[in-house]
Amino acid sequence: MSQPHPASSVSRQSLFGETPESLSESAVAAGWPRRLGAQVLKWVWGRGVLDPDAMTDLSAAQRAWLGEHYSASEGIEVAAQSASDGTRKLLLAWPDAGLDDSRRTECVLIPAEGRRTACISSQIGCPVGCRFCASGLGFDGNLTAGRIVEQVHRLGRLDGVGRISHVVFMGMGEPLANLPAVTAAIRILQAPWGGGISARRITVSTVGVPSAIRRFSNFELPVNLALSLHAPNDELRKRIIPWAEFATIAEILDACREWFDKSGREITLEYLLLGGFNDRPEHARELAAVAKRLRSNVNLIRWNEVKGMPFDRPSSEDVLHFQRILRDRGVNTHIRASRGRDIAAACGQLRHEKSVSLGLSAKSMPAPLPPSA
Ligand code: SF4
Repeated sequence: MSQPHPASSVSRQSLFGETPESLSESAVAAGWPRRLGAQVLKWVWGRGVLDPDAMTDLSAAQRAWLGEHYSASEGIEVAAQSASDGTRKLLLAWPDAGLDDSRRTECVLIPAEGRRTACISSQIGCPVGCRFCASGLGFDGNLTAGRIVEQVHRLGRLDGVGRISHVVFMGMGEPLANLPAVTAAIRILQAPWGGGISARRITVSTVGVPSAIRRFSNFELPVNLALSLHAPNDELRKRIIPWAEFATIAEILDACREWFDKSGREITLEYLLLGGFNDRPEHARELAAVAKRLRSNVNLIRWNEVKGMPFDRPSSEDVLHFQRILRDRGVNTHIRASRGRDIAAACGQLRHEKSVSLGLSAKSMPAPLPPSA
């Protein structure tokens, strides 16, 4: 589904936000044959060709029309990093969002166990403002479907990468606060003519907005849902996730249960272990009780240090002990491997480091915004 750019000096549409149908409609309106839509997207997705002039089965006039009305690469790469474990990270600026440092988004390629996972952003910054997250440097708007999809295509074009096998919406932003663009992007990413990535390999991670989870449960594609829980009770959660003020864990779990009833898919509870804050044995016991209230598994994530953030990285012993307590209570639990520790690979971290170098700090972060749903 095509989405016009928000209030923009850039008048061209993103080719990555187009379907064969939407592009064909524009082509027909411009006097071209209907087949032009599928023809162009075959170049983009089948052959990785983005320059209209290289689309040799189009006439010169069609190529000129395409170049005048559509753009394939909107994002400007302002920084790139590679870690020794193969993790690669891009910082992208969006021209009509302004070129200052606060209006940039990140995407990360995580190669592991034969997978090539793209971790992508859904918004510029994030309205939630979690205390542990470097993306909380303010919120500057939603990304369009085209810009969400572009991140996946870009990561797949990096040297030696090839086709992306998995996508996780775990970069900047709260995906369910940008649901129309996120669902449009997923349709394109999983389409056989598009990204060709099975919906079962696409995971949407939310901080938990019950009304939005219920709306998302009507989405027709079998994607995975991950809930960023990060604390086993409401009091602790409110101290690190401002949106915890708007919904209790019990209310979020009710919505997750509805999502499971409709989708039949188990939910992943993401739990970021912050040393000395939420990684004590009593927290593990409480988390086990929460996890058993719905069909879920738990992903433990060991905090990656971020300059200027008031949390410690928990010890390996504490992480393993935490996992053992959960497993002893019958909760399916995994520890997510830390990736890209020698680059700024945590959510929002590359943008954060650029901002720190410009003199911005957690203290200058704007207040988080309430959910609009
Ligand atoms: S952790 Fe996710 S929801 Fe929280 S501020 Fe960062 S990007 Fe937003």
